Amino acid sequence: MSANDKFPAEANDGGGSAASLLPSLFPERAPMTPAQLAAGVEAALAVQRRAVTFGKRPFAAVLLAPDNETVLLSHQSVDQVNHAESSLARLAYCHYDKAFLWRCTLVSTWEPCGMCTATIYWAHIGRIVFAGSNDQLYELTGPGNKENFTMDWHTRDVLKGCPQKDIEVIGPLEAEGKIVVEESDKYWGPTRRSHS
Ligand SMILES: [Zn+2]
Repeated sequence: MSANDKFPAEANDGGGSAASLLPSLFPERAPMTPAQLAAGVEAALAVQRRAVTFGKRPFAAVLLAPDNETVLLSHQSVDQVNHAESSLARLAYCHYDKAFLWRCTLVSTWEPCGMCTATIYWAHIGRIVFAGSNDQLYELTGPGNKENFTMDWHTRDVLKGCPQKDIEVIGPLEAEGKIVVEESDKYWGPTRRSHS
């Protein structure tokens, strides 16, 4: 049996087969406006700025409520294993139930890595927004950077392997991403140069 037999194409259609089997866990999400996207990224960026002052790497995420505006939780990067997004997703799953989280949005300054995207999937958070892309991050960190051996995974790549849930992904964001790149490079620049 191939993967396609197990996960038929219609599983990607309108919330996936899981949504048709368990509709109460997949309530409709309110679309995000450009202003809500910008405000969400700015909230995450404020967490990132503070994290850097504590010597943490420039990554941060916030969880927005179903109104797309209220910040319910936030998390900075703790270390190379406890990333901002996966830490936030685990925390969110402790606080809220699946049906509620499906209508929430995780907003990250940077594109969630493979580990974080998978954790967001398991936490049942229905939407991911990110500003800077993984490719941009690799440009900032460079190769052989002991502070971040950047993966070549993309959020959408990981979710292609998760057809049962139609998690919405918005990003990278051009204007917001530019700000995130510029601010994050203040941290990555010296680490990158030390390895060149
Ligand atoms: Zn991560």
